[in-house]
Amino acid sequence: MKTTCYKINEFFETIQGEGSFTGQPSIFIRLQGCPVGCSWCDTKHTWDINLDDSVSTEIMASKNEETTQWANMSVEQILAWVKTKGYQAKHIVITGGEPCMVDLTPLCEGFEVQGYSCQVETSGTFEIQVTDKCWVTVSPKINMKGGYKILRSALDRANEIKHPVATEHHVEELTNLLAEHEVTDTPIYLQPISQKQRATELAIETCIKNNWRLSIQVHKYIGIE
Ligand code: SF4
Repeated sequence: MKTTCYKINEFFETIQGEGSFTGQPSIFIRLQGCPVGCSWCDTKHTWDINLDDSVSTEIMASKNEETTQWANMSVEQILAWVKTKGYQAKHIVITGGEPCMVDLTPLCEGFEVQGYSCQVETSGTFEIQVTDKCWVTVSPKINMKGGYKILRSALDRANEIKHPVATEHHVEELTNLLAEHEVTDTPIYLQPISQKQRATELAIETCIKNNWRLSIQVHKYIGIE
């Protein structure tokens, strides 16, 4: 039987600072690879998958700065590594990069069997392959340089939609996307980009007007990863 492996850029344990799970102790698993091309992306080091950057788990996990290095790990190796680290959180956040470029079902199953809950954070531009129980956060990256479209199937699967906003244009983009795909019941979170005052005010005004929710990236206010 073929073993599923994942290209891991980093693991870390912290408090989830965004969306419905804000405040939840979580183990983040960051996958390497993303072709979406958001100009303001704060994880550009995860974009390219270069074979020259493939390293051992130990080297990947001992990084103390953001680098393009990644380790190819099976589900069993990932589970064992999380145990070895002694992490206490029981919530897994699979992020990237764009984690939905690969089938995440085996990874979710591996954790869920061991009593963890799973969440995936995705741009909505790839088919989402996860377990039924997995919580899906779609942060739709609309009209980005890579030219990927937001998939209806991703919006249909979303348990929450989280959208970064800095200007009215971002609000309009989201409003048009929701109308086009007839999204009505999914909780919507607006997230001010870069904690800027104008962005925060705009997000607050828009949330109140539309009965949406505010996500303020609490980890950035309390100075944790
Ligand atoms: Fe960065 Fe995420 Fe956009 Fe990819 S989808 S470019 S990782 S913000």
